[in-house]
Amino acid sequence: MRAGGVMARHGSRVGLTSRAVPVSLVFAVLLLAVAACAGSGQPVDLAKDVTSVDRPSPVGVEENPKTSTTSTTPAPPCDPRASYRPQGPLPPEGQMPNDTTMQRIQERGQLVAGVDQNTFLFGFRNPATGALEGFDIDRVREIAKAIFGDPNKVQFKVVTSAGRLDVLEKDQVDVVVRTFTANCERWQKINFSSTYYIAGQRLLVDRTSNVTSLDQLGGKKVCAAKGSTSITTIKQNPAKLVPVQVDNWTDCLIMLQQGQVSAVSTDDTILAGMVAQDPNVKLVGDRFTDEPYGIGIPKKNTDMVRFVNAVLEKSIADGSWASSYDRWLGSSMGGQAPPQPAYLD
Ligand code: GLU
Repeated sequence: MRAGGVMARHGSRVGLTSRAVPVSLVFAVLLLAVAACAGSGQPVDLAKDVTSVDRPSPVGVEENPKTSTTSTTPAPPCDPRASYRPQGPLPPEGQMPNDTTMQRIQERGQLVAGVDQNTFLFGFRNPATGALEGFDIDRVREIAKAIFGDPNKVQFKVVTSAGRLDVLEKDQVDVVVRTFTANCERWQKINFSSTYYIAGQRLLVDRTSNVTSLDQLGGKKVCAAKGSTSITTIKQNPAKLVPVQVDNWTDCLIMLQQGQVSAVSTDDTILAGMVAQDPNVKLVGDRFTDEPYGIGIPKKNTDMVRFVNAVLEKSIADGSWASSYDRWLGSSMGGQAPPQPAYLD
């Protein structure tokens, strides 16, 4: 592997087949090889005789998956960026109003947040401290601060791209803050906050590649996470790509590094995190989708949606959004203003 970067944790890889070879056999083959060497004077490739090396692939990887993770009936049209309007100013921290979702969270003592730990810049584990950090994690801490007066009163639950809707539908988390595109199909099942960032799908290839667009990758393997809007876009591309879907974005980076896929295609934000970890990969071509990020919230908790939208408005107004943006995304994504909130009521 060329560069592990900060995301060195990758427990899903399998070991080399050499583990299965008895030590005595290795010595015997070595002795034979040395004898052969002495006889002919030709160098001998010991590795070839001793073992074969399988290319490790991540657990859960699926090539050209048959089944779709998305529903087949198209969702009715909607404005995915429009959310529920905040109701007045935020209540004082630590004093959530009676009979609200926020009061129940306050009584529980922790906000339960679904996040990623594999996406550098958005939700990743800092190897030096073990803490989760990133632009999405900052949004979680702002919500916790608004409820408790303490940004650390959070129980983080790591969820994959494919698991995001499920944890919200089963009410296992209060919020999902995880590079989550608000779209009409997902609005059918959950609520979204107003948009707090607009990403767009792009392409990541090896530094030496001449490819600049998905259309040039007909018959080639392109990696994205299961259950993401990115994998749907790859599957729908008329150039007939070979979609490779994995559980975590880091799996895509590793597969690209090992030459097992020709490209990774997802939000430019996630790809920028990969570029920051590995100088041997590059972002190419223009954005070809709009991915407005919203905070996912269970369908029944519209009071919480209004509350979170008020928190987002405050974060934009007091400069917290901008300093979080500058810290995590400024150098990769350039200067950007926060998106204007849109409301449906
Ligand atoms: N923003 C896209 C989505 O929500 C891709 C990012 C991801 O899956 O983490 O599906």
